[in-house]
Amino acid sequence: MRGSPGSMTVLRPRSAAEAVILCAKHPGCLPLAGGTDLMVLWNMGELNGRRILDLSGVAEWRAVRKTAAGLRVGALATHAELRDDAFVRREFPLLVQAAAAVGAAQIQNRGTLGGNIANASPAGDTFPALAVYEAQIRVVSAKGERVIPFSEFFAGVKKTNLAPGELVSEIEFPFPPSRPRRQLFRKVGTRAAMAISKTVAAGLLWLGPDHRVRELRFALGSMAPTVRRLRAVEEFARGKRLTTEVTAQACNLMSQDVCPIDDVRSTAEYRLRVSQNILAAFLLG
Ligand SMILES: Cc1cc2nc3c(=O)[nH]c(=O)nc-3n(C[C@H](O)[C@H](O)[C@H](O)COP(=O)(O)OP(=O)(O)OC[C@H]3O[C@@H](n4cnc5c(N)ncnc54)[C@H](O)[C@@H]3O)c2cc1C
Repeated sequence: MRGSPGSMTVLRPRSAAEAVILCAKHPGCLPLAGGTDLMVLWNMGELNGRRILDLSGVAEWRAVRKTAAGLRVGALATHAELRDDAFVRREFPLLVQAAAAVGAAQIQNRGTLGGNIANASPAGDTFPALAVYEAQIRVVSAKGERVIPFSEFFAGVKKTNLAPGELVSEIEFPFPPSRPRRQLFRKVGTRAAMAISKTVAAGLLWLGPDHRVRELRFALGSMAPTVRRLRAVEEFARGKRLTTEVTAQACNLMSQDVCPIDDVRSTAEYRLRVSQNILAAFLLG
């Protein structure tokens, strides 16, 4: 039986340095950003007695800024801040569309990119965009800083490769090599908002002057325990013209990279078919 909300000890650092010190001093404390995932657990009584590290006072991790290499997003930047940022809208539109697909306005106003990633749901809506933009996750602890490629960040359902005491501080997005010819973000859920994805896709496509594929990046969420780049499809498409036949072959390869399941939201068969349709429409333009 689930419990009811009880007492909670909250630590409130005022800077990144203080957050790191408190995190080291209180092993097992739970970082809290926007609280949109954590407070659900608290309401169910699952955090009773836990020590919470409230990061909301860490101003350094809020910024969304342009750099020479691309974009740096503080872990505490909200989905609404990403959605509305002019530079992100121009240079990283898939991230904007993904942020706009998380929950609805209330969740976007509070929920953060760092919280979405650290929560490690198989259905995190920002993940396919982070995968095709080849994001880098900057993490910090009392031992120092390190950068984890997004492709290596997740360890499984609701599991990350963060070491104990590590906090996500920033997410870096390198500029893509050039402007892609086509780009896509698509979330399929039961409703247009407040729906957990049955499948969620992001794609970037570069074509050469002869209309052959120079580079394809395509990622799917909700189709495996963690977000997946379709490496077999990407490799197969390289150097080819995207005819109907090539597209059909590419779609058949999808199941090499994903393993959808039947659950309360959808069936494996539906997830695969719809994802293949999204890929086919993207490749055929
Ligand atoms: C009604 C509702 C609808 C939702 N709809 C969607 C949706 O459509 N798509 C979607 O992807 N998600 C959805 N979510 C989930 C959630 O809103 C997002 O995952 C959100 O981005 C979480 O961010 P947060 O700042 O609120 O995280 P929090 O709840 O504060 O934290 C989430 C997890 O991350 C950890 N954490 C947070 N920040 C850090 C950090 N800097 N370093 C290390 N660990 C950290 C926390 O300890 C916790 O384990 C929904 C949630 C609700 C309640």
